[in-house]
Amino acid sequence: DDRRVTISPQAIALTIAGSDPSGGAGLQADLKAFQQNGVYGMSVVTLITVQNSLGVGRVEMLSPELVCEQYDAVVSDIPPRAIKTGALGTGAIIAEIADRLDGCDCPIVVDPVMVSKHGAPLVDDAAVMAYRDTLLPRATLITPNRFEAERLLDRKIGGELDDLFDATKELQELGPEMVLLKAGEFDGSQLHVFLASDTIVTLTLERHPTDQTQGAGCSLAATIAARIALSSPEEAHEPRIRAAVDFGVAAVNHAIRFAPNYGNGR
Ligand code: PLP
Repeated sequence: DDRRVTISPQAIALTIAGSDPSGGAGLQADLKAFQQNGVYGMSVVTLITVQNSLGVGRVEMLSPELVCEQYDAVVSDIPPRAIKTGALGTGAIIAEIADRLDGCDCPIVVDPVMVSKHGAPLVDDAAVMAYRDTLLPRATLITPNRFEAERLLDRKIGGELDDLFDATKELQELGPEMVLLKAGEFDGSQLHVFLASDTIVTLTLERHPTDQTQGAGCSLAATIAARIALSSPEEAHEPRIRAAVDFGVAAVNHAIRFAPNYGNGR
């Protein structure tokens, strides 16, 4: 029946993220990425933004209790094969969620979202500390961009390849098993640095001139989580995550290349 989308019954992913009602970023982008990859998606809401393609109007954080109640309700009933976190709002939410994730046996992809591409803050001041102290040590993979990496490391990162390698290693020392540093433009290409155990590789992609990139970070981390959910926990761990990263990076690069323009802004 070609009216039916094939969703694998065991491929289940959960996003813990904020709402972008315009559907470009946040949990809406995550759920679309899950569905696009044939994965059953669930979402725990952490904060509500009022926004459209022109910008973010208001951000309202939910209470840590309400976030955790959602998490407990879904996870106790429908265990996910992969979890992704996006905008978490407050240090208190980050710490509570980190506590919950301690008991979780599936891979966890942490996208340490801090500001929207419109410049609106999506976490409070306590968030960076909470990431460092509680959530990063429980992450299988973190996917910071350069700005987020600098905030997490509390220092500037230089422009040479060695500077990026050093930063990636320092991020791994904060506790996550693996790091995907989205370094941005480098030598005319789009560069990511990936570190697993002590193997560091660069992933180089063609740059596509567009400013239609709202939600690209969300979509990347969610696609990686979806591909992990599709793969088997029996597979060798590191190659399993690496394959999901390779797929996600290529898929989002392709999506950016063909990104249409919805609305009057980004
Ligand atoms: N999460 C929410 C709720 C957002 O509104 C945004 C950006 O506006 C993001 C995450 C981050 O989006 P991006 O993938 O563009 O970094």
